Amino acid sequence: MCGIVGYIGPRDATPIILNGLHRLEYRGYDSAGIAVVQDGKIEVRRAAGKLSNLSDLVAKQPISGAPGVGHTRWATHGAPSARNAHPHTGSTERVVVVHNGIVENFLELKEELTAAGVVFKSDTDTEVIVHLVERNMATGLDLTEAARRAFRLIQGAHGIVLISSAEPDKLVCARIGNAGGVVIGLGEGENFIASDIPAILEHTRRVIFLESRQMAVVTRAGVHVET
Ligand code: GLU
Repeated sequence: MCGIVGYIGPRDATPIILNGLHRLEYRGYDSAGIAVVQDGKIEVRRAAGKLSNLSDLVAKQPISGAPGVGHTRWATHGAPSARNAHPHTGSTERVVVVHNGIVENFLELKEELTAAGVVFKSDTDTEVIVHLVERNMATGLDLTEAARRAFRLIQGAHGIVLISSAEPDKLVCARIGNAGGVVIGLGEGENFIASDIPAILEHTRRVIFLESRQMAVVTRAGVHVET
């Protein structure tokens, strides 16, 4: 269970997220990653080891845009490597997830998805979440409803943030049980998500803590929370 930072607003999410993750470093982690929507596409950068490895990678292969989401991982399923670092994209590369916690029924879900033709790109439990969301979106559901239905299927405790390049006007997040918490920071024309307050304190002191089994749709203009 490690760090999550998300951003939506007019600024480039990249430095806000890298900075926010840096403020959560005290929690310990083994790898890190970031995804932003850049020119309508999801761009992902991931690196094993220290956050400075990720910053170096982003310096060499720059990304910019918003919304964006970042993660520092404490591996539970799959080795601590760049390939297993979050964020994880699905098959369409149009949805991306970061996740704290453990999908306890991931094997069963992975078998079901694999039987339906899904090819997994990591060894994590987390990756099933993004494929479930994509499968729901393929039936015509929007990101929010697709996510809501996916959240119902996964067992265990979770903090989750999702972005889709098909709906770049929002981030969808959820807290289920206690996997480190989900905090939404309220700005002016911009909003933040984090697994813990220090990540966003420099931007705002107005925060909403999600309760277990709540999800939120976060846009530039506001936050809609539901249980
Ligand atoms: N279970 C997930 C993984 O191993 C999330 C780990 C975490 O909470 O950082 O990738």
